[in-house]
Amino acid sequence: MARQMRNGPLSVLSKESQRTAGDEARTMNISAARAVAETVRTTLGPRGMDKMLVDSSGNVVVTNDGVTLLEEMDITHPAANLVIEVSQTQEEEVGDGTTSAVILAGELLSVAEDLIEQGIHPSSIVAGYQEAVTTAKTALDELAIEIDPDDTETLEAIAATAMTGKGAERSKELLAELVVEAVTTAVREDGTVDRDAIDVRSFPGRSVEDSRFISGTLVDKKPPHPSMPTSFTDANVLVYEDDLELSELEIGAGATITDVEQADAFADRDREELESVVDRIVDSGADVVLVDGGIDDFAQQRFVDAGVLALRRVSDDHRRRVAGATGAARVGNLERLTSDDLGHAGRVEREMIRELTHKGNARAEQTTVFDDLPESEIGTILLRGGTEHVVDEIERAIEDSIGVVSAAIEDGSVLPGAGAPEAELALAVREAAGGIGGREQLAVEAFAEALEAGPRTLAENSGHDAIDALVELTASHDGGDRTAGLDPDTGSPFDALEAGVVEPLRVKRTALESAVDAASMILRIDDVVAAGELSTAGDDDGAGPGAGAGPMGM
Ligand code: ADP
Ligand code: MG
Repeated sequence: MARQMRNGPLSVLSKESQRTAGDEARTMNISAARAVAETVRTTLGPRGMDKMLVDSSGNVVVTNDGVTLLEEMDITHPAANLVIEVSQTQEEEVGDGTTSAVILAGELLSVAEDLIEQGIHPSSIVAGYQEAVTTAKTALDELAIEIDPDDTETLEAIAATAMTGKGAERSKELLAELVVEAVTTAVREDGTVDRDAIDVRSFPGRSVEDSRFISGTLVDKKPPHPSMPTSFTDANVLVYEDDLELSELEIGAGATITDVEQADAFADRDREELESVVDRIVDSGADVVLVDGGIDDFAQQRFVDAGVLALRRVSDDHRRRVAGATGAARVGNLERLTSDDLGHAGRVEREMIRELTHKGNARAEQTTVFDDLPESEIGTILLRGGTEHVVDEIERAIEDSIGVVSAAIEDGSVLPGAGAPEAELALAVREAAGGIGGREQLAVEAFAEALEAGPRTLAENSGHDAIDALVELTASHDGGDRTAGLDPDTGSPFDALEAGVVEPLRVKRTALESAVDAASMILRIDDVVAAGELSTAGDDDGAGPGAGAGPMGM
């Protein structure tokens, strides 16, 4: 157990404060951080295993996704949380590569521990790591290949690589196509991808192969009136930001209405006004109307007579998406309504989608599909597949996949995967170490070794001898074979690009940066003190470092 200095002679801490200092603090932090990396280790790569998380009420999540695992796990050790942050950064910046990043951080700490045991000061190690990461990033840029934003084949390979080893793998060709279609739809003029424009909707039931891409969106509302038409080709769409209801008589508020006659007059005028609003909508040529609020019965009947589908209480998000997809303006005032305000959809249709409720009871679900919109700036992936757990895990893989394809389009730079970058970078870093000398050299060499944890783990997880595999892989890179990666089938090197294992540059770059930062931060700590309330920036959910158990708990 840690040496605790309670109220020592020079202590300025309160009686209750716990404190662990020096080597002990460091050793404790390093082992906690390494434990995090160990947890996710076996999930890495195409042959990685899944984990089942169970909470105290029996809810189950089955996942292969690094960040999901770490976020769902009940981890309270502060240093462990620093490593978990690495996976969160990775998730935010790219959406994929979370496991690799955490493994790298853990390995950087593991090799540092050996150096500390040999008497090398942590600050020398941190300095060596900074040297090494600069070299590594340069080598990474040199390894990167430029791609065209409409190089569909490469983009699909990137999408599929992110899905390998996950529940989505069996249908990864179809799903990769859907992802690329979706991301391509969301590319804006400045070359960035508008992630909000891509919606992934999952519906358990049927098979994954029934998933499809809709160049448009879904509105989960059924018509308020059974006789409304529900199928249109070439529909004019109106998005109305108000309601179509009669006003409530507000007795007592402001103008008071005292006699019945006055009330009737008010009601008549109100109804007339609403009638004229409805007429204006019908006259505009709108076929489909999305209304923010409710729709009065007589207005519904008027729409039925005119062959208009009017959906009520459509959420803001759905109205925004339909407007984006069809080019409709969001109209709040009908006084100046013109046909320019209407959007257009090649197809609007009500569809039945069997959706399972949370407890797995089948329930018929209807949705209105706005589809066939060549100019659409938004898209929806309609995901199907087996049970809720299956479809959830597929959705996580799809999200990763959307992240990598977006990063590849935005940056235009990709890398061979399958451990190729790690092997190439390790070589470059080792070479650079020769010119440094001194204690830092040892740290730079250790950095190279840590990088190799990537391909080593890939080999282990696919059942091959890690040492043999790494020797062969390194030899290939030494011989100038820069795209050589680890073939999970044989454990021998193969050309990762030819095999279609491609990742965006940003995945590896972010992983490198955040793993080194976290490892350096942990190495610099030589004192762990239980504090009072800490105000940690950006730590709004209280789950970040500083929260949870005291520094002694894990
Ligand atoms: P992460 O959370 O780091 O993305 P993954 O479990 O997705 O973890 O594994 C990613 C690693 O698996 C990367 O190094 C990637 O290049 C590699 N990989 C993915 N598909 C293949 C494949 N078909 N063959 C070999 N390696 C692959
Ligand atoms: Mg991945």
